[in-house]
Amino acid sequence: MAAPGLDFVIHDSLDADIARAAARVAAAARVAALTGAGLSVESGIPPFRGPGGLWTRYGEPPLDGYRRFLADPAAAWRERLHPREPWAVGLRDTLAKARPNAGHLALAALEQAGRLHALITQNIDDLHHQAGSRVLLEIHGNHRLLRCVGCHARFEPHRVEVDPERLPPRCEECGGIVKGDTVQFGEPIPPDVLRRCYEETERADCMLVIGTTATVYPAAEFPFEVLRRGGTVIEVNPHESELTPAATLSLRGPAGAVLERLLEHLHVAGAARARRRVS
Ligand SMILES: [Zn+2]
Repeated sequence: MAAPGLDFVIHDSLDADIARAAARVAAAARVAALTGAGLSVESGIPPFRGPGGLWTRYGEPPLDGYRRFLADPAAAWRERLHPREPWAVGLRDTLAKARPNAGHLALAALEQAGRLHALITQNIDDLHHQAGSRVLLEIHGNHRLLRCVGCHARFEPHRVEVDPERLPPRCEECGGIVKGDTVQFGEPIPPDVLRRCYEETERADCMLVIGTTATVYPAAEFPFEVLRRGGTVIEVNPHESELTPAATLSLRGPAGAVLERLLEHLHVAGAARARRRVS
C-alpha cells in the first residue's frame, strides 16, 4: 500500500525541532502517547466530519446510539450483524480496507525499544494493535472486539456465541448483555480504561500528541495534566491546533514522516523496517 506522507520533505528547521523532541523523549523517565483520527487519515480512514468525512458522505449515526442499544439490544444486534444504515456500511467497509501506516509502525517500534510506556488512542480502528503496539489504551473501544455492559470484560468475536434467534448474546463471566466494544454516542467511556488513562497520564513526564486536536474530553485533559506537572508535550500534527500554543514543541508534518525521523534521531532500530513494510 502507498504510504501517504512519506514523500513529505522535512526541512531543516523542522528537523532541528524533531532532534529537540528526540532529546526530550530520550531524557524522559516515562513517555506516553495520545493519538487521534489524524493518524489514521494516513491509512485511508477519513475523519468523521468535514469535507470528505465519513458522516458527511454517509450520514451521521444516531446521537443517542447507546440509549437505543439499551432500549432494544436485540434490534441493535440485528443491525450490527446485517448493517443497512449507510453510515454503518460505510464505516465497516472503510475499516476493513485500512492497514497500519508508518506512524503506527514507528510507535510500535518506539515501544519495543523501551521508549514508549503507554499509548492512549481515541481511534477504534485496531491499527495500533495490528502494528504491534501492546501498551494500548483504546479510550473509545475497538471495533473488532465485543464488551460486556455489566463487567466490562472484552472478548474476541469468536469467543462469544451469537445466536440470531437469541439476541443479545450474554457474557459468560457475569451474564450481562454483550455489545460492540466501540463507545457509542451517549455511552460513558468504560471506567476501567478511563482510570488507566488517568494513571498513565499522571506517571508520564513526556507526552506525544499525534493527529488529534485534543479538544474532546476527557482526552483533551491529558496533555495539560502533563504540562501542569512540568512535563513535556510534543505535538505532531500537519495543522495547528488548540494545543499548539501550549505544547513544548510542535512538529508540523504528517505523523509517518515525522515519527520515522524521530526514531532515527533516537537511533531506534525499526524506522527503516517500518518504511519497507508499508511500501
Ligand atoms: Zn460480564
